[in-house]
Amino acid sequence: MATDPTCIFCKIVAGQIPCLKVYEDDVVLSFLDIGPIAHGHTLVIPKSHYPTVMEIPPEVLAAVNQRIPKIARAVLAASGAKACHVLANNGEEAMQSVHHLHYHIVPRASGDGIRIPWNTRDLDKTAGAGLAQAIQAALAS
Ligand code: 5GP
Ligand code: ZN
Repeated sequence: MATDPTCIFCKIVAGQIPCLKVYEDDVVLSFLDIGPIAHGHTLVIPKSHYPTVMEIPPEVLAAVNQRIPKIARAVLAASGAKACHVLANNGEEAMQSVHHLHYHIVPRASGDGIRIPWNTRDLDKTAGAGLAQAIQAALAS
């Protein structure tokens, strides 16, 4: 199992740092976020250390994702929320502060006052066509 002795989440997996665990199996560990932005804010991490989705093997990511529906349903049941974000920050520029891949499950309720800025713009059709081609080319290489 990949591990990084300097990583705080690897230390939680190893039991060197405590957590409020909600679920564990051979692939994932899930525990309450120490700095919740909502009641019930929970993290789901692979036990193996991979910094982001760009490094994790697809089959391991698939196994992590396979666990998320049940954990999300339990988080909603316990927190009384009807909706949630399931999101992963990948890289510092994308607000990742712990460089061990993790999914946030953030319960949401109407009027909860939580703001996750998502300022949309209009897609430029011409530039977008070039961008889509560039991504297709990167996928094919
Ligand atoms: P990121 O910004 O990397 O997507 O999110 C990292 C999350 O990990 C933050 O929400 C932060 O509160 C949480 N976190 C950081 N250190 C610890 C810790 O030692 N224990 C727990 N339970 N959560 C942590
Ligand atoms: Zn780690």
